[in-house]
Amino acid sequence: MRIHHAAIFVAVLFISAVAVVSTPPARSQQSEPQREICITIDDLPAASAQAMNGAEIFDMTTKLIATLTAQKVPAVGFVNENKLYYDLNDVQPRIAALRLWTDGGFELGNHTFSHMSLNNNPLSAWEEDVVRGESVTRLLDAQHKIKLRYFRHPFLDTGLDLETRRQAEMFLAQRGYRIAPVTMDAWDWMFSGPYAYARKNNDAALQQRIVTEYLAYTTTVFDYYEKLSRDLIGYEPRQILLLHGNWLEADHIGELFDLLRKRGYKFVTLERALDDQAYALPNTYVGPEGMGWIDQWAITQGKPPLHTPVFPQWVIDKAHEISAPREPVTPAKP
Ligand SMILES: [Zn+2]
Repeated sequence: MRIHHAAIFVAVLFISAVAVVSTPPARSQQSEPQREICITIDDLPAASAQAMNGAEIFDMTTKLIATLTAQKVPAVGFVNENKLYYDLNDVQPRIAALRLWTDGGFELGNHTFSHMSLNNNPLSAWEEDVVRGESVTRLLDAQHKIKLRYFRHPFLDTGLDLETRRQAEMFLAQRGYRIAPVTMDAWDWMFSGPYAYARKNNDAALQQRIVTEYLAYTTTVFDYYEKLSRDLIGYEPRQILLLHGNWLEADHIGELFDLLRKRGYKFVTLERALDDQAYALPNTYVGPEGMGWIDQWAITQGKPPLHTPVFPQWVIDKAHEISAPREPVTPAKP
């Protein structure tokens, strides 16, 4: 009997061991995201607000927000209020489009009134543009008891010299702003021109080709900057992705979210992302080229990034092709 018991005991041990080895990790453990990312959407109410009327901007915004809401993805939108006033007969639908964001539970931040670069303008003019960009946005936030608190640098231009950079930062802090850095940027604005063109012309094949290329380039950018983060600061910070208010995102942001979820990302608020200690790292980058914060940290550390992702040339060519005048301009006769 003793042997029999022992045998059972051994058998049970063996089975337990097999069970431990062969049982896949609990599902919650397996799909638990290790990475976090915050979604930010710039140039609201619409990046190409001059080429669209208020009704179209409203439709585009409705579609974009529907996906964010359905997928429970938090996002902060950054506004250029000058885009509300391109056509004074068309102001209301543009403000209504902005209101969709705040009514949908999304916070709006300031991106200057006229998308003004800090690098190409005097600091005083730039500061005025920041203040001018607050009026409607502040009201819309306030209607939902939110205090306007986030600022995003147009073109990611943070100043040509360190004194300007620091003075701008101090100015923003004094007005109650927190700067919203960017760590991930797949240049959706460059894809969006050709995409909108294809959409308008019902060219489904070109639309699909652009979307496929956009998502592939996004993958390349994430591969690159996740690794660069680890190499530079020893871990991957809570990333902040820069997107824009355009038809490409309105139609396809859900596919982008799928791609990010497959990489293990969980979507978090900007507040949570900024809690990451990475955003307190030394950053003394200055220069004519606006760039993301991982690049800025790298340059601050004296290790300028090498072999950065190469943007697909055909998309740039397409963007130039469609923005070029259809017929050559006849030179004036002497
Ligand atoms: Zn912008």
